[in-house]
Amino acid sequence: MAKKDVPNPRNSITMKVRVREARRRWRRVREHFVAALGPPESLPLLVGNVQRGVIRTWCSPGGAYPRAAPLRRVLAARGIDPQPFSEFVRWVGPGNSVVRAFCLLGQHKWSSTTSSLNRAERRRKQKSEGPLRRRIDGVVEWPCQNCQRAERGRRNLERINKPGRRRGPDKRPRGNPQKTEQHRLNIADRHLSRAALGHPFHLCTLCGLVIYETRWHQVCRRTWRAYCRKRKLDPEATLPVTVPRRGPDSTRGLMRNYEILMRRAVGHESRRELLADQRLASRAAARRRGRPRMLKSKMAVTQAAKAFIRLIPGAWALVFSRDDGRNSRRDQITPLPTSLRPLIASGARDSLIVRLHAHEMDVAKIGKVTGADTEYVVAVIEKSAADRPDSGSVRSEERNSRIQNG
Ligand SMILES: [Zn+2]
Ligand SMILES: [Zn+2]
Repeated sequence: MAKKDVPNPRNSITMKVRVREARRRWRRVREHFVAALGPPESLPLLVGNVQRGVIRTWCSPGGAYPRAAPLRRVLAARGIDPQPFSEFVRWVGPGNSVVRAFCLLGQHKWSSTTSSLNRAERRRKQKSEGPLRRRIDGVVEWPCQNCQRAERGRRNLERINKPGRRRGPDKRPRGNPQKTEQHRLNIADRHLSRAALGHPFHLCTLCGLVIYETRWHQVCRRTWRAYCRKRKLDPEATLPVTVPRRGPDSTRGLMRNYEILMRRAVGHESRRELLADQRLASRAAARRRGRPRMLKSKMAVTQAAKAFIRLIPGAWALVFSRDDGRNSRRDQITPLPTSLRPLIASGARDSLIVRLHAHEMDVAKIGKVTGADTEYVVAVIEKSAADRPDSGSVRSEERNSRIQNG
């Protein structure tokens, strides 16, 4: 993709900086060079194959700075000590020029290139280490890669191989095997109660009870379709009249309440512990705007768990229809429909039973969805029929729903 004809602006900036720095460095040693060179008139036409005129420009304040190789030749030809200029030569020298180094770790000589040295120096600077020491003869005290790696390996080995360390596989049995089983169960329960459920809970469109991920229980969906078919309604375009809800938004805290219910039962966590756990509060808060809703009392924790139970259908399989293998464990923790018995006995689901019956769901299915047993369902339906002889029809409700659906 690089365009050959277009100069890279970054390159030119880098070059400008390099040139400016080279000028600065030459200025520092120029006086010394002029003094060591002697009077310019005494110079021959060529010094170390460099023209006298070129050398003069090096000497003048506004002139060019020398390149590494010519300068080295001139210094050699005039017998000038190169030591004061070595810093400058290294700077202007090409990146691939040889750098002689001495490795203190392995006590041996080695060599590298200027660009490698520059890179090493930059790395040291980033780690706020000082620059590598340079000897008078220009050799850099620079540990070589092999010795550095060996040193690092040796240090790690010492750290691992502490005296008293037992090697090899475990020879003693690991405590009580029963514990391992318990441990495994604990882990499973942790997953159950704390696993971030990737999807939200909803309240089923027909029955208003909780369901994970989708918006319909399958049985409710089928009931609604059959109901619509009979009345020549489009089941996709029409929705059942929404169930009147207690409270402003009962879906809001579903995830949090589910978590509380599971954790109280699974982890045997006290209400105080649950209250202290900010994670619950923050998870609920993440789904709503405004001030985070906190559970203010132990009473509130109990209420949260109860609120979820109020919305569970008659089986865990109705909540988590795609069984992730955890429904049986959930059933151990909160057995269904047994846990709903007091709720149903209180009559809290009577209106739901009537509603489902009005949508022509059969008695057995109503029992499955609500968690009530068949006799109870029948009794509720008969009682409501006696109270309101025309309650078998929901035609008037349907008209509303079509308007609502727009
Ligand atoms: Zn070495
Ligand atoms: Zn439903």
